[in-house]
Amino acid sequence: MSEMVENEAVAEPVKQTKPTEGEEASKAATEEFPLPDWVPEWARDAPKIIVRAPGPKSKEIIKIDRDYVSYAYDRCFTFTIEKAAGAAVMDADGNILLDFSSGIAVQNAGWTHYKVAKAIQEQAGKLIHSMANDAYFDKEAFFAKLLSDISPGKALRGTFFGNSGAEAVEAALKLSRYYTKRSEHIAFFGSYHGRIGAGLALTSKLKLRYSYGPLSPGIIFTPYAYCYRCSFKQTYPECGLYCMDYLEKQVLSMGGPTGQIASLFVEPIQGEGGYVVPPKEFLPRLRQICDSQQALLVFDEVQTGFARTGKMFACEHFNTIPDILIMGKALGGGVPLGAIIAKHDIMRKWRPGSHSSTFGGNAITMAAGLAHVQAIIDENLADRAAKLGEYSMKLLKEMQQRREIIGDVRGKGLMIGVELVKNQYTKEPHEATNIQGKCWRAGLMTITSGFYGNVFRIAPPLCISKALLEKGYEIFEQALKDEEEFLKIGTSAPPG
Ligand code: PMP
Repeated sequence: MSEMVENEAVAEPVKQTKPTEGEEASKAATEEFPLPDWVPEWARDAPKIIVRAPGPKSKEIIKIDRDYVSYAYDRCFTFTIEKAAGAAVMDADGNILLDFSSGIAVQNAGWTHYKVAKAIQEQAGKLIHSMANDAYFDKEAFFAKLLSDISPGKALRGTFFGNSGAEAVEAALKLSRYYTKRSEHIAFFGSYHGRIGAGLALTSKLKLRYSYGPLSPGIIFTPYAYCYRCSFKQTYPECGLYCMDYLEKQVLSMGGPTGQIASLFVEPIQGEGGYVVPPKEFLPRLRQICDSQQALLVFDEVQTGFARTGKMFACEHFNTIPDILIMGKALGGGVPLGAIIAKHDIMRKWRPGSHSSTFGGNAITMAAGLAHVQAIIDENLADRAAKLGEYSMKLLKEMQQRREIIGDVRGKGLMIGVELVKNQYTKEPHEATNIQGKCWRAGLMTITSGFYGNVFRIAPPLCISKALLEKGYEIFEQALKDEEEFLKIGTSAPPG
């Protein structure tokens, strides 16, 4: 990228995407949505399986890995990734897989987007480490401005860059304590905010917390609006969002906080918790509750951000603006990057020296992130995600009619959860691992989530073509059908 092009990319007014919903989005059924031109030939016709994985080359690498790399990684695909482009991944033995994961919601504009690759290469030839803690760096300033311009309601200004989602969560927690001079926090069952320090303490899943206590104190959990499995056995909308009444009238007044709530952490759509979409009143109610407590409202958009849900940030679906917004994953376009952005009056109270990170504002991460986010805007990917998401919801709801193993389909844009059950009446969860393995063998990479490990996350790169989406759903349905036949699922009569 020449200096001129760089500056143009930043100086131009941001073409904010205008995501469409309802009628307009359903036009997706008639539009084609081809892959963009930059996607190379090999990646246009996934999947292509030529050898049973792991093939010989993958095996060689896996052997060394098993001797020398930590066992803490919990890999679900036994192959070695060699390269990736658009919505396809190639392994070391030449197998090409269609990808429905985006590398866990990271490669939103497509794997190895050419503008991101070019920005990294050009930056690396000039400056790798920007020592941005101590000196100023152009792309850090440009990127922070861009993030403010695309922030929900353009209401946030002042970004702190770190290295990961979890590190950004730490920063949000610190800022909320610093600003409010309080030390308690509310988080939700089903939450995921990272695997270290405060992020782990804010993460509810026992399996992830087990054996790491004592965790950071002062965190109080309350039920999320997970209507398919309501903690209070209520039904929306008749419930009037009872979970919010419970938070307000019981947790906050009788549940044991000291009246010193610094902040409430929430994922506008839960990610690791199972792609759970709350009702539209959920975030506005949280806004009211936080305001009444003089607590800060923190949205963790690490997984939902950057056009994934059909809007730049998921909270825009709920017309609610947070005090602090946490970003990660897609922010860096594939390089390690996390950040928080906050209302200006909050961020400017964080005095110099209050927080720091050696690699915050690093030259490579800024170049890559700036190129990725600008590509998401320029290629109008929020709109594309909204339309392809609407089309996907239609296909998946139809699939649910045919496949009794599907208990629920929910989502926004290309962030869709498909929850598996053994019986649609009892809702007994059905673990997804076997089906995930079947999909993978057939050439479709998927990821799962949910408390019971029974939710498929449909989260393909937003540049995916309609034809590849359809191909992926065919593979997915075949795997579900095989599992149903194997387990004799398909008599979803009420029990008894
Ligand atoms: N918050 C959310 C909502 C996440 O989904 C994740 C990662 N899955 C994190 C925080 C932590 O991000 P990282 O893995 O980059 O530390």
